[in-house]
Amino acid sequence: MQNILKQFNIEAVNSGASTGSQWLAAGGPELVSSSPVDGKAIAAVRTATRGDYDAVVQKAAEAFQAWRQWPAPRRGEVVRQVGEALRSSKEALGRLVSYEMGKSLQEGYGEVQEMIDICDFAVGLSRQLHGLTMHSERPGHRMYEQWHPLGITGIISAFNFPVAVWSWNSMLAWVCGNVCIWKPSEKTPLTAIACQQITAKVFAANGVPEGVSGLIIGEREAGAWMAEDPCIPLVSATGSTRMGKSVGAAVGARLGRALLELGGNNAIIISKEADLDMSLIGCVFGAVGTAGQRCTSTRRLIIHDSVYDSFKDKLVKAYGQLRIGNPLDEQHHVGPLIDKQAVDMYLAAIEKCKAEGGRFLVEGGVLEGQGYESGCYVKPAIAEVENGYSIVQHETFAPILYLIRYSDLDEAIALQNGVPQGLSSAIMTLNLREAELFLSQSGSDCGIANVNIGTSGAEIGGAFGGEKETGGGRESGSDAWKAYMRRQTNTINYSTKLPLAQGIKFDL
Ligand code: NAD
Repeated sequence: MQNILKQFNIEAVNSGASTGSQWLAAGGPELVSSSPVDGKAIAAVRTATRGDYDAVVQKAAEAFQAWRQWPAPRRGEVVRQVGEALRSSKEALGRLVSYEMGKSLQEGYGEVQEMIDICDFAVGLSRQLHGLTMHSERPGHRMYEQWHPLGITGIISAFNFPVAVWSWNSMLAWVCGNVCIWKPSEKTPLTAIACQQITAKVFAANGVPEGVSGLIIGEREAGAWMAEDPCIPLVSATGSTRMGKSVGAAVGARLGRALLELGGNNAIIISKEADLDMSLIGCVFGAVGTAGQRCTSTRRLIIHDSVYDSFKDKLVKAYGQLRIGNPLDEQHHVGPLIDKQAVDMYLAAIEKCKAEGGRFLVEGGVLEGQGYESGCYVKPAIAEVENGYSIVQHETFAPILYLIRYSDLDEAIALQNGVPQGLSSAIMTLNLREAELFLSQSGSDCGIANVNIGTSGAEIGGAFGGEKETGGGRESGSDAWKAYMRRQTNTINYSTKLPLAQGIKFDL
């Protein structure tokens, strides 16, 4: 790990405020980043003060004046080079992500691959930021729309995708002509420093103005500065619904724009016509992958009566084969939770579930002994529940899977939709009618609805996000770029008269 830290210029104590290649003195309290893998401290960061934050915002505002003038394809070329730099850092950055956050090495590499993919996507996008042309109702007039950058995009990110979420936002925001300021999770500050170092080199080599990529490391308060700051027209915030309600209210109070990517409570419907063996893989990976710490993790299985017992038995057997341990060792399926606070929340959820009447088929618990010294390794658990239990209505960010029975598909869809969140959903069925009903307007109410694929994960080509308490925002592919721009409608009169719209006469 020492070599990797050195590669990204991460020292024992680092500054938590940067305008790009410059790092400010950062005078806030020190934050120590410890790995949930082995409990050891990796390095410390001096958090940003309000003064540091203001300095980063000022530099960003200056940089915007120049950056917005760069042709979009030229901005795309810079992003292409960031993608190349990420390709050559994939191994090192992927390892750092795994070690600091605790996800498996494969998932760490996968997260960096996602960053590379969004760079490629953004490069193409830089030549496709197009608007529509409309026919004017007035003779000798032309009407069209164009998209302009907004200014500073504030990015608040969560610990579980410590780097990919930043790239989904920043790569798109940059090709759109915005400048960005990133407030990463205080639980994963070092991966953020590594990304800033990678970007700074590419930006310096291309003469990108200092300030296009700002970084502010701090606790929640630093995110709140952004939310309240009228200098930041767009705040893109990824994290819990609790955070989203607070950020959304603060941004809304100043009539700014908030792009919210919040918690999920994702379910898979297992139909009587499902391929049960294939479904099993999707369900188990969805529930235990990343130790249940994905926004798209599978939390609920809604299983048809006729296959309930056989599928339950398959699940219990599969859980018996899970290997829990150091995520950097590829033979393990399940790594640690992010920290002890997360372990406490997991234990409290199990107790609450039991108190509400949940029956555990696979018991949870904290692992102790050799290899589990960090105290963050827990057993994935399965419980039979009712959808209405308050604990089931709530997202617990840990590997607890709830089983619920159904007898007809309308009931299953009502159960699937019967939670406050609306991120990812899936049905496992080989029946076309069932699949199409699930995807129809009477089906899933989520932002993501899949057939014969689990809930977990997504491709960058599609717009990513969810409804209801998931916040309504969309990031990444499709036309999600429009959230980072302002639309302007232009009408040009090339005639010798000035006719008014709707035939209004106004003669002088
Ligand atoms: P969190 O809400 O505790 O923190 C996320 C970020 O928000 C951190 O940077 C934190 O400092 C900041 N923050 C927290 N409260 C704030 C406030 N009041 N004002 C401003 N900033 C604030 O979330 P977490 O524990 O890091 O991440 C897990 C959560 O994120 C889960 O709910 C998960 O579902 C969600 N998540 C959602 C998506 C998505 O795309 N929908 C993706 C990843 C994670």
